[in-house]
Amino acid sequence: ATATEEKDLVIIGGGVAGYVAAIKAGQEGLKVTCIEKRGALGGTCLNVGCIPSKSLLNNSHLYHTVLHDTKNRGIDVEGVKLNLANMMKAKETSVNSLTKGIEFLFKKNNVEYIKGTGAFADEHTVAVRLMDGSETSVRGKNILIATGSESTPFPGLTIDEKKVITSTGAIALEKVPKKMVVIGGGIIGLEMGSVWSRLGAEVTVVEFLGQIGGPGMDAEISKNIQKTLTKQGMKFMLNTKVVSGDDSAADSVKLEVEAAKGGKNQTLEADVILVAIGRRPYTANLNLEGIGLETDTRGRLVIDSEYRTKIPHIRCIGDCTFGPMLAHKAEEEAVAVVEFMTKNYGHVNYNAIPSVMYTHPEVAWVGQNEAELKEAGVKYKVGTFPFSANSRAKTNQDSDGMVKFLADAETDRILGVHIVGPNAGEMIAEGTLALEYGASTEDVGRTSHAHPTLAEAFKEAAMATYGKAIHY
Ligand code: FAD
Ligand code: NAD
Repeated sequence: ATATEEKDLVIIGGGVAGYVAAIKAGQEGLKVTCIEKRGALGGTCLNVGCIPSKSLLNNSHLYHTVLHDTKNRGIDVEGVKLNLANMMKAKETSVNSLTKGIEFLFKKNNVEYIKGTGAFADEHTVAVRLMDGSETSVRGKNILIATGSESTPFPGLTIDEKKVITSTGAIALEKVPKKMVVIGGGIIGLEMGSVWSRLGAEVTVVEFLGQIGGPGMDAEISKNIQKTLTKQGMKFMLNTKVVSGDDSAADSVKLEVEAAKGGKNQTLEADVILVAIGRRPYTANLNLEGIGLETDTRGRLVIDSEYRTKIPHIRCIGDCTFGPMLAHKAEEEAVAVVEFMTKNYGHVNYNAIPSVMYTHPEVAWVGQNEAELKEAGVKYKVGTFPFSANSRAKTNQDSDGMVKFLADAETDRILGVHIVGPNAGEMIAEGTLALEYGASTEDVGRTSHAHPTLAEAFKEAAMATYGKAIHY
């Protein structure tokens, strides 16, 4: 790229938000450049987030199953051993093939890919420090900020990604810790805590609130999954705040914790501490101030409903602005923002974005939970169905959990679907579609679902909402 060439769209950040927007823009015939500083496309999600964590979750689950859950299935196994180095290699193979796949899609869709760090030189120009140390700049009619997020640090603890780790260290430990304490019982804490607990670590999760699962998870579902994770060996300290930490010793870390509403202090000690107290938008070194753009008190770039900042040709999507920090939310926005640029319309239904926690069993939900409906004063009805009454779950000897529908008391329109159970993450797609199309629970309950499938639990929970389930 040279400073004289003007692109239709310049994107800063090659994460899910940035790379999807780049491909979409290429498909729409725009001249597009995507600048990414980490040396690989796919951002947090592909390199250190969704994908590597799911590889470890899947393979640690297999290991745990082979160790503890084969006898009653008629499979005798002996000499089972963990080869952590190879488990990490399997993870890296998946990550590498997917990031290379995006490079291929960039070429296919005529997207120019610049490896370097971008910063605003002026409202239409992005200066780039290339990875080889040299510099260039790109001009854009439109500029899209998609610089993502980073993990929130815990005051007083220094992240070294060995002893005090974020999720990035948690997907790359070289040996299984003896004791791991997780600060924060949100999605990262429970997913990564599960991985290391299955591989043999003694894991304690300290959570400030009275329930695990982070924002959005229904309280009844949260209690249900906590029970199952406890059975698997994880320990939980709820209503407990970590107040300070001491990481000065060579191979252990101490944490002072206290009951959230005040009370006796307690000291916890572990060889590894996972800090999982949330993520915050990342917009450092973009020179936002140089062009007069500001972030809100939580570090998010302020945008309007067409993703425009107050400089209309500079837009922003993904983790660095409003909304849930989820890859598929970023992906929806990426398509919509390009459509706003090229066609003047775009559509993201923020009320129908599913959430999935990939523990075993999985937890998945879409729409509102009971606490949110109560707070909004909405009259609703509830229908549930346990997997212990579902033939397929029983046959698979994997029947912890339930499906729960929340529907408008008067109209029966679905307001929320909450699932804890095997394959919940796949099943929630049906709930999301139902919500998107304004379905009633009766619409779902009168739809044929194949037998024997886990999805029958979904149908029967719907039936239980407007009438009665058959098998429970
Ligand atoms: P990012 O993916 O963070 O991408 C931003 C990119 O911009 C980065 O690659 C960064 O290097 C680059 N960048 C920043 N500044 C500059 C600059 N100045 N110049 C050039 N490049 C720059 N979400 C899910 O939906 N499902 C999951 O299962 C899931 N699992 C997760 C597991 C973990 C451990 C973590 C940490 C997150 C997970 N997430 C998951 C969240 C998901 O990763 C994010 O929501 C998603 O990556 C957001 O995409 P983004 O493009 O907005 O930001
Ligand atoms: P989170 O917001 O989900 O959970 C953080 C938890 O830490 C909260 O429950 C909070 O109450 C608790 N906490 C905060 N300070 C504390 C303290 N001092 N002591 C004890 N507890 C404390 O954040 P996360 O789990 O770090 O995840 C970050 C983001 O990444 C989320 O937005 C999440 O959506 C995304 N993510 C998604 C997936 C997925 O979709 N499967 C997986 C991983 C991450």
